[in-house]
Amino acid sequence: MKLVFERSMEGRRNDFIPELDVEHYSLPVELTRKQALRLPEISQVDMSRHYTELADNSFGVNNGFYPLGSCTMKYNPKINDEMSQLPGFANIHPLQPIETAQGSLEVYYTAEKLLTEITGMDAMTFQPAAGAQGELTGIMLIKAYHENNQDLKRNKIIVPDSAHGTNPATASMVNYETINIPSKPNGRVDLEKLKEVVGDDTAGLMLTNPSTVGLFEHDIIEITKIIHNAGGLCYYDGANLNAIMGTVRPGDMGFDVVHLNIHKTFSTPHGGGGPGAGPIGCKEFLKPYLPNYHVVKEGEHFSFEMPEKSIGNVKTFYGHFGVVVRALTYILTLGKEGIPQASQTAVLNANYMREQLKDSFEMAYEGPCMHEFVMTLDKLKKETGITALDVSKALLDNGMHPPTMYFPDVVKEALMLEPTETESKETLDQVIEVFKQIKEQAYKEPQSIKEAPSKTLIGRVDETSAARNPILTYQY
Ligand SMILES: *Cc1c(COP(=O)(O)O)cnc(C)c1O
Repeated sequence: MKLVFERSMEGRRNDFIPELDVEHYSLPVELTRKQALRLPEISQVDMSRHYTELADNSFGVNNGFYPLGSCTMKYNPKINDEMSQLPGFANIHPLQPIETAQGSLEVYYTAEKLLTEITGMDAMTFQPAAGAQGELTGIMLIKAYHENNQDLKRNKIIVPDSAHGTNPATASMVNYETINIPSKPNGRVDLEKLKEVVGDDTAGLMLTNPSTVGLFEHDIIEITKIIHNAGGLCYYDGANLNAIMGTVRPGDMGFDVVHLNIHKTFSTPHGGGGPGAGPIGCKEFLKPYLPNYHVVKEGEHFSFEMPEKSIGNVKTFYGHFGVVVRALTYILTLGKEGIPQASQTAVLNANYMREQLKDSFEMAYEGPCMHEFVMTLDKLKKETGITALDVSKALLDNGMHPPTMYFPDVVKEALMLEPTETESKETLDQVIEVFKQIKEQAYKEPQSIKEAPSKTLIGRVDETSAARNPILTYQY
């Protein structure tokens, strides 16, 4: 495919700007460019073809099955986008007087009400721009709370090894020491190990639930009690809320802070890297520490407040508003009945696939699972030389996106599948068939799988060079 720069012809235009009808004005010489900007010069039809070609060569949930575990690549109803594009929302300016933006503040206010209800929390901020930033904000709240209590010896955050990778990274960002505890063979938190490390230097615990291996923690209430008894606070990584929403609530399990990935669970397109939103919910006693721009309602009037002991801003302005509009639309569309039903179907779909595949592929953990499951291809690799990477490449030739690979790293040759609730049984059955065929092929003609993909624009790439020496700008 040609880059847009390679399609460029000097002097070719695609705009139709009318003659100036005001006096010409030139910038002072010291403010002008010494050289013209090197922008592609291209006709409108060629530009249109360029973007269409880019779209044709991309893969998203609108193209096919996308079981990327931990990422919840579910179908995003188009009504969400339509609502976020309403002129009153789309054309708003962050600095316009709030009297002229009451509807938008009401969106935040209503979204907070519904999402605190869903999570069992008392207050929420929408400022964080993604899940990982939500974690950072949540742990900053915990730190501010301990500091406010002059409880300064608490410098450790406990993170089980089944946590998402962003959890230990977050703890380090806030200058906490991370205490990693290994899981039991069944993938759950080891209570004995937890009791050994907890103490009066424990600032808190970060728990991903369901964990990144797709399992619900059996002893979750016991876990939060152990931490609270030691004076620590409990953080719930709720990026996987898709598995539990409307059925159980982190607030009822004893958690003090939770972040949500509303671009995942509450359906905003997020395959291209954003924008997302990682709001955090907290219990009443942490509310005074929330970031700036918390929406409050007095009478019929909405305004922003800076909570009394606020940690300040974690982002400019109010967060990614459009994502919140989409989430609110999604929640209101599904309603009280649809929210739990979505999660239950996500869990059912994952368990259906797991059951259908477990005789052909070895599962890393005993079932049932929550919204995702992990298989290990270690035996397949030993017997045929075909790895998790090879199977993923073969899936590309079958018109679908590969699952998450080689994660969690405690599982050898791991493939983690999250089918999501938006896939039909017919699609799941087709995918199950594809997996079984690839396995058969691995024994019969492994070479053909080593050469996959053959139907994509680009075949096998040198993954190491691509990661180590990426070329991200056009070289003239
Ligand atoms: C996706 C995810 C995150 C990080 O969220 P981002 O929006 O990508 O920053 C954190 N924890 C879990 C469990 C996740 O699945």
